[in-house]
Amino acid sequence: MADTLGRTHPTIQAKADNAATGPVRLVLFDIDGTLVSTGGAGMKAFGEAFEAAFGVTNVTGQIKFAGRTDYSLFREMCRHGGIDCTAENRELFFSHYLRLVDNHLDASKGGPFPGVVRMLDELAAMPDAPALGLLTGNIREGARRKLVAYGLWDRFALGGFSDDDEDRNLIAAAAAAKGGEYLERQLAGPEIVVVGDTPKDISCGKHIGARTLGVATGGATLEALRACGPDWAVADLTHLSATKVCGR
Ligand SMILES: [Mg+2]
Repeated sequence: MADTLGRTHPTIQAKADNAATGPVRLVLFDIDGTLVSTGGAGMKAFGEAFEAAFGVTNVTGQIKFAGRTDYSLFREMCRHGGIDCTAENRELFFSHYLRLVDNHLDASKGGPFPGVVRMLDELAAMPDAPALGLLTGNIREGARRKLVAYGLWDRFALGGFSDDDEDRNLIAAAAAAKGGEYLERQLAGPEIVVVGDTPKDISCGKHIGARTLGVATGGATLEALRACGPDWAVADLTHLSATKVCGR
């Protein structure tokens, strides 16, 4: 958005009218590319796990990972590798994946993106603080290992994961429902903010009627995120305060 001098700024506030819609009660964060970089740990472990489970190599090369769910990635890898996408094969694959992802997390140079820890601190310190949750395509145990590695797992009270569904829109619905259970009342869409780094994050947030915040630290450029019409789009989370996001 340009100011009166025609300068552009990394932060836009396109649609949210916090005063009109009331305070936010739940903030849901994507993990990869949004909270943390894992230095490609997940992607490397996916390829290696497929080889360990089925003896098939080089199935990840043609696959785009950003914004995807683990279950949908597994289905696509099975298609490329000629493996039946059964529940038994999926269980076998993810047992190898969890073993291997730990190795890469240990070795990687990953960590939280700029502004992430400050934003989580600010949100938690707010009077009548919103609940913090995850909305991720990771399986729950994979999410836990990635965030434990960088000291962030305990920040979140709940989450929607690939275990809930293969479709990110339905993971968003599951995360919203869990937020409602946690807060002991059903939440209206605008009481929720979904934070993510890809157009898929923005669209799943819109699917549940939530406010959406695109952050260009991962799988998409700022321009690509803006084109999805989020309530905010920022280069990274240093450009936005918790107060602004939560409308108080
Ligand atoms: Mg992501």
